[in-house]
Amino acid sequence: MLDVSLSGSNFIGSSPSADGAERIRASARQDGRPLEPEFIFATPEEVAEAARKAAAAFPVYASLTSEARASFLEAIASGIERLGDPLIERAHAESGLPLARLTGERGRTCGQLRMFAALIREGSWVDARIDLAQPDRAPVPKPDIRRMLMPIGPVAVFGASNFPLAFSVAGGDTASALASGCPVIVKGHPAHPGTSEMVARAILAAAEASGMPDGVFSLVHGGAEVGRELVERPEIEAVAFTGSRTAGRALYNLAAARPRPIPVFAEMGSVNPLFVLPGALAERGEAISKGYADSLVMGVGQFCTNPGILIGIDGEAFESMLWSVAAKLGEVAPGTMLTDAICERYDQGVAAWSQHSSLTALFFNENRAAPALFSTSAEHFLQRPELAEELFGPGAIAVRCQDFDELVAVAQALHGQLTASVHRSDADDESLAALLPVLAGIAGRVVVDGFPTGVEVCPSMQHGGPYPATTDSRSTSVGTAAIFRFVRPVAFQNLPNRFLPAELQDGNPRGIWRLIDGTLQR
Ligand code: NAP
Repeated sequence: MLDVSLSGSNFIGSSPSADGAERIRASARQDGRPLEPEFIFATPEEVAEAARKAAAAFPVYASLTSEARASFLEAIASGIERLGDPLIERAHAESGLPLARLTGERGRTCGQLRMFAALIREGSWVDARIDLAQPDRAPVPKPDIRRMLMPIGPVAVFGASNFPLAFSVAGGDTASALASGCPVIVKGHPAHPGTSEMVARAILAAAEASGMPDGVFSLVHGGAEVGRELVERPEIEAVAFTGSRTAGRALYNLAAARPRPIPVFAEMGSVNPLFVLPGALAERGEAISKGYADSLVMGVGQFCTNPGILIGIDGEAFESMLWSVAAKLGEVAPGTMLTDAICERYDQGVAAWSQHSSLTALFFNENRAAPALFSTSAEHFLQRPELAEELFGPGAIAVRCQDFDELVAVAQALHGQLTASVHRSDADDESLAALLPVLAGIAGRVVVDGFPTGVEVCPSMQHGGPYPATTDSRSTSVGTAAIFRFVRPVAFQNLPNRFLPAELQDGNPRGIWRLIDGTLQR
């Protein structure tokens, strides 16, 4: 087992550092008991030192072999596993998430690290393109041009509150950035500082054992101020964030206002509309109701893919589905939310819905974090844009449309989404064909006859979408394609073979897939 004692320090590269005066202490979500120790927020000097170390580590780390980086990622995964039960218990105390869920999340976290290790070991992800010289070409000779993806530089990662392992210190952002060859500085989420330190120690132990340069990884604790300092450091080349639109947009604006702007990949959640077409409703309305209610309340609704808007065509079948969902919500035991602030925001949001002149309550009570279902007409929904905003938690609004045209109008009016789902039967083919292009136009992932929660981690996954789901719809934060956020293409023209990266050299020493004179070959 790895050492799981906690110091409350920041880790500036491999050095523990606790110069600051401001500090926080986590408390157990279940009973409010304060948890040891206090965690010290990083000072501006500590943030600057972490950034300088990352910049110094970058050329060394980026020039390591893929094998060395892959082994480092695998060592991190093994280290996290060796943290054992204390990691799961600390994450449970800090987040209130069930032990079984966190055990699964640890498996996902380690699986992601190993997935990126396999990706870079295979190597073809660098998208090598080679156009061989044609010295005799008329009227001008063609130069030799060779292009591939190269790491962008130090990346600032903001841990998310709702996945203390899989979207936090060693989560998908860190794994994909380290895989690409970028050093990482994580700003831990203040809701789970102990979990963050444990995982950071596993990363640093793996870095030392694998001979990685000091500064390849740092962890700083802090709030919005520390986050701002980090994004403003000139050494930082990209930012990865998961959380609220307010914070994600603030960081995006900050990065754009730097003397030298940098990309920000902020995943800010969405309402994930779920459409039920009439054929599906007639065929299996009850099963869809059950699946929908389960998806809505899963994890007390604290998923960015939570299906917060349910859309169907008004009539007996949809009415009966809504009451069936409402009945199922009534059977749900109250849950503990991730933080008091998230719970208060949710409870206030539901209370506001209960007072809203365009909404009718189908299921609502004033218990903390209780599920809720309200309904409205499409006409009102289209007139009141606030009803299409995310409310983080197990609450939903059902939209009753008069006909299919109105249902399409609702889809068209929605802003960018991580997911859009549709339930259909063969009787709905014509409607589905008309709806699909609209859904693909607003969402990063279109789910058919399923529910959006439970994001598969695999090469084909797209977890991103048009603004405000993310600040860059061309990217994903889940799956192997997440690595493309932290690279940029570089073309070498007429560079002698011995100076080229192995991926671009004659003879293909890495044995990767390459596009040579327009033909993909190995
Ligand atoms: P958050 O407010 O977005 O905070 C995320 C991180 O950003 C925290 O470390 C926070 O530090 C920092 N931060 C906040 N405002 C900032 C600013 N203006 N400039 C720089 N950094 C800033 O997320 P949260 O605390 O986890 O939850 C709040 C809400 O975020 C939820 O109610 C939900 O709506 C949304 N959320 C969305 C997702 C998603 O999957 N997209 C996940 C979790 C939460 P401090 O905490 O110290 O301010």
